[in-house]
Amino acid sequence: MLILGIESSCDETGVALYDSARGLLAHALHSQIDMHVAYGGVVPELASRDHIRRVLPLTDVVLAEAGVTLNDVDAIACTVGPGLAGALLVGTACANAIAFALNKPVIDVHHLEGHLLSPLLSSNPPEFPFIALLVSGGHTQLMRVDGVGQYQLLGETLDDAAGEAFDKTAKVLGLSYPGGPAVSKIAESGVPNRFKFGRPMMHNGDFDFSFAGLKTAVLTQAKKLQMIAPLTDQDKADIAHAFVESAVDVLTYKAFKALQASGFNRLVIAGGVGANAQLRARLNAMAIKHGFKVFYPELHLCTDNGAMIALAGCLSAQQDPSLLKHQDTFTVRPRWPLYS
Ligand code: ATP
Ligand code: MG
Ligand code: FE
Repeated sequence: MLILGIESSCDETGVALYDSARGLLAHALHSQIDMHVAYGGVVPELASRDHIRRVLPLTDVVLAEAGVTLNDVDAIACTVGPGLAGALLVGTACANAIAFALNKPVIDVHHLEGHLLSPLLSSNPPEFPFIALLVSGGHTQLMRVDGVGQYQLLGETLDDAAGEAFDKTAKVLGLSYPGGPAVSKIAESGVPNRFKFGRPMMHNGDFDFSFAGLKTAVLTQAKKLQMIAPLTDQDKADIAHAFVESAVDVLTYKAFKALQASGFNRLVIAGGVGANAQLRARLNAMAIKHGFKVFYPELHLCTDNGAMIALAGCLSAQQDPSLLKHQDTFTVRPRWPLYS
């Protein structure tokens, strides 16, 4: 089964071709970061307009790269939620238009299911079941995954997502958007223990998280220093270091507790923060020490992309063919829990 996948939920336009027998044939991505950077965050209307410009040219790129035509495609998978309504509408309208014109079925894909299954595209894919830590720009969740479509939420953030905390910390430190990679990089030259922030909700015995307080701690510390003098590069690095230590401590501790409680020995990390070097280093060390296995998406597939949507569409349709829909209307779901 050859699936064309289209992702447009936020600020990346991603298109990919995934074949159930041959794997990922091609994927192309356009990130709008350069366009939104001037505003310090994603401007929804600009995002929608840019998706319109990119989605068909990217589709042509992947078809050419894979050496196939739209007629060879068996179904079109697209992200219908959650995300920005206007942005979602572009990819979904495009997918449905292609499907309608060529009499092909569409598969509605949940964006988080795409992230969750993205490690299956790596050269070392996990088997089911596993515990997944989904750490992205909009979500921080621990999930028990027994198979495709079998997801049980164990806990999640009660306020900000981990990625959001990285982005807000970056803003306070005057780093550019999106801040995750920048904060991670300067944290490497930070002096350990010059600052120490709390470990929100770490020992409260559940699998929930909270990152809003950590963000405030960063802001308070920065302001305190700024009352004396403007932040130096070393100040910024030291604050970033303390922030990363705290976030990584909480994320890894709770993920490990969830793994222990499940009795599984496979931990999967997905979402943009899964690209974080400090998080990966800590988890790899814990995995060796405690004898479990940790799986990540390939670095370039941690953030949004079409490949994970094509894959998720393919796997869910294989499992439940009723998801292949011939339809003449469509809708998007900007707010859509994965478990309902
Ligand atoms: P969601 O998937 O929840 O709707 P999203 O699609 O915006 O949100 P992703 O694309 O998965 O989220 O990830 C983007 C987030 O990942 C941003 O917050 C970004 O700062 C963060 N991020 C990316 N790389 C890194 C890194 N190396 N270290 C920390 N955070 C990172
Ligand atoms: Mg993005
Ligand atoms: Fe995402």
